Amino acid sequence: MSKIRFQALAETLNRKPIAIEENSRRSDLFGKNVFNESTMRQYLTKESYIGVMSAIEHGTKIDRKIADQVSSAMKEWALSKGVTHYTHWFQPLTGATAEKHDAFFETIGGGMAIEKFGGNQLVQQEPDASSFPNGGIRNTFEARGYTAWDPTSPAFIYGTTLCVPTIFVSYTGEALDYKTPLLRALRAVDDAATAICKYFDKNVKKVTSSLGWEQEYFLIDKALASSRPDITLTGRTLLGHSPAKGQQLDDHYFGSIPTRALNFMRDLETECMLLGIPVKTRHNEVAPNQFELAPIYEESNLAVDHNSLLMDVMNKVASRHNFKVLLHEKPFAGVNGSGKHNNWSLTTDTGVNLLSPGKTPMSNLQFLVFFVNTIKAVYENEELLRAAIASASNDHRLGANEAPPAIISVFIGEQLTKVLQELEGVSTGKLSPEEKTDLKLNVVGKIPDVLLDNTDRNRTSPFAFTGNKFEFRAVGSTANCANPMTVLNTIVAKQLKDFKNKIDVLIENDGLKKDEAIFNVLREYIKASKNILFEGNGYGAEWEKEAKKRGLSNNKTTPEALKAKISKKAISLFEEMDVMNKVEVEARYEIEIEEYTLRIQIEARVLGDIAGNHVIPTAVKYQNMLIENVRGLKDIFGNNYQKHAKEQLKLIEKISEHIEAIHSKVDEMVEARKKANKIEDIEAKAHAYCFDVKPYFDEIRYHCDKLELMIDDELWPLTKYRELLFTR
Ligand code: ADP
Ligand code: MG
Repeated sequence: MSKIRFQALAETLNRKPIAIEENSRRSDLFGKNVFNESTMRQYLTKESYIGVMSAIEHGTKIDRKIADQVSSAMKEWALSKGVTHYTHWFQPLTGATAEKHDAFFETIGGGMAIEKFGGNQLVQQEPDASSFPNGGIRNTFEARGYTAWDPTSPAFIYGTTLCVPTIFVSYTGEALDYKTPLLRALRAVDDAATAICKYFDKNVKKVTSSLGWEQEYFLIDKALASSRPDITLTGRTLLGHSPAKGQQLDDHYFGSIPTRALNFMRDLETECMLLGIPVKTRHNEVAPNQFELAPIYEESNLAVDHNSLLMDVMNKVASRHNFKVLLHEKPFAGVNGSGKHNNWSLTTDTGVNLLSPGKTPMSNLQFLVFFVNTIKAVYENEELLRAAIASASNDHRLGANEAPPAIISVFIGEQLTKVLQELEGVSTGKLSPEEKTDLKLNVVGKIPDVLLDNTDRNRTSPFAFTGNKFEFRAVGSTANCANPMTVLNTIVAKQLKDFKNKIDVLIENDGLKKDEAIFNVLREYIKASKNILFEGNGYGAEWEKEAKKRGLSNNKTTPEALKAKISKKAISLFEEMDVMNKVEVEARYEIEIEEYTLRIQIEARVLGDIAGNHVIPTAVKYQNMLIENVRGLKDIFGNNYQKHAKEQLKLIEKISEHIEAIHSKVDEMVEARKKANKIEDIEAKAHAYCFDVKPYFDEIRYHCDKLELMIDDELWPLTKYRELLFTR
């Protein structure tokens, strides 16, 4: 009997929900462990409070004296909460978060010690960062990296450690993390959007990008998860036959949450409250044991930090509840995958959501400007946007027959499609007073009414307008949102900048009124970017054919998709908007393409091991049992035995065939891997892994899964899909 599998099952079935205490109101817990505005008011002098707030709001520099005051206030606050250590918390290009804890404790001679945390330690640190990926940027001994305090994301306490969010850059100034380019992109979109808002309201001084992510995940019992070497090492199952029952009954979606899972969620939510992560929604997702968690949206930089932090906290809390969280985009074949919808919008410091239609024709015109420019930006940069969400794990969603597809398109709904059609008919140049009135009354003026009852939603679109925001749905569940958010905000910034230049030319050179100029440019943009708009079912062969005709890219694999990141167009875009220079862009490309290769390499090894060490020996064992049985039948029935051993003999033969197929496929895969490993060029290597190695996965899996169906359940060593997905 297969020990681990049955032990794990027994353990799982004996689990009791872990009781949790929830005595306080959530609003009382909220932000308790965050050095936020209210804590700062309490702990900082007025002067340093103003200094920090101005850095947050206007990006001003914080001088040394204030940094000293802030660090000592942070220390006092942290010590009052039993904290012993501090760390710079950053997001290197591994995608995970990094931290290195130092104690406040310091000796001062004479056998005495104090707690110390100075401005220097707050502002800058030099982690021994030589083993973080840098894509060739930090190849010299001198060019080390350092972390620098990001005051726009507040420090927080996790466990007994004070965590200070920081950026991570090389001494030559190149970004070595996800946050630095994001901050630059946010500044770019702020500048470009604010300039346009001034057409409508001179009081607007700042535009903030907001992000509300929806995190999908699977929750599997810890014992079951660790009984599977593939889940342990790759985060997904590399084989396993689909259960007789899957998600076809849709009986999990929005169903009542199982108690163990619910207790985990409540515990997690409490942790989130303390950390100031405003989580709000929880529910079951489509697949069995799949769930979703969503917060109230926040400023994008903070939202990105909070998502990274959440993914970390999830793992820790899950462990307390004997669960393992699977964040992988496709942990189980044949069952829905997990994504992370990125809801995105822009808001002014006067409180206007620029992607929400307003009450007056003028505010609606402003809405249309941002709406149409976003569509145009996505159209012009669809391939780059696809590249921003490319990863080995997300390929299982985007490249496969599952929504959303690898083709980026924009869904806006029937009503707004009509509005854009009307705007396409606007006259060129100056508009007659009648036309203007008509536009204002009957087109622009009608938008809010129209949207109120606009309930149509398209769940298959990778980029959808949902009433007052765009929802970038193709982002993968493991992703660091900084990557897609950097690209989205940059392309919109560039688009808005171009738009403004056009408008200004029409006003100054052609003598058009502001609204006339806007209508003229919008008309051209709508015509130009029509091909990106798609209201239909966003995946399948038909759409692929249609998309091809429209000239939209369809990069199904990461090595193909990533290429767009280092196109001339992309590099000049990032340089023009001051988001990344060529070195930074190329470094990221290198890191990501190498990571792709590594992931496939690991999966190939694990699959080879499981097939060779688990599946084949089990198949042989079972085959031996059958052979024994046939021998016995022969003893009893003599020459007549074949009549009674017919099925057994067939099975023995089939098992041999599958064993032989697995053997030869694994051998071929190993050969392909050896060949790929010899390739020096990282791009060619990734292609070899993608097109020469990976195709063996499905073939090997096919035969293993067939054996799973044939072999005595008691012998099968790997925890089965039905056990992983339906044990609660
Ligand atoms: P669903 O997409 O599942 O129907 P909702 O529409 O309620 O869910 O919202 C999903 C997410 O969108 C939430 O995280 C919410 O905070 C976020 N969201 C709402 N408004 C905005 C906005 N203006 N900017 C960014 N995110 C937003
Ligand atoms: Mg959504």
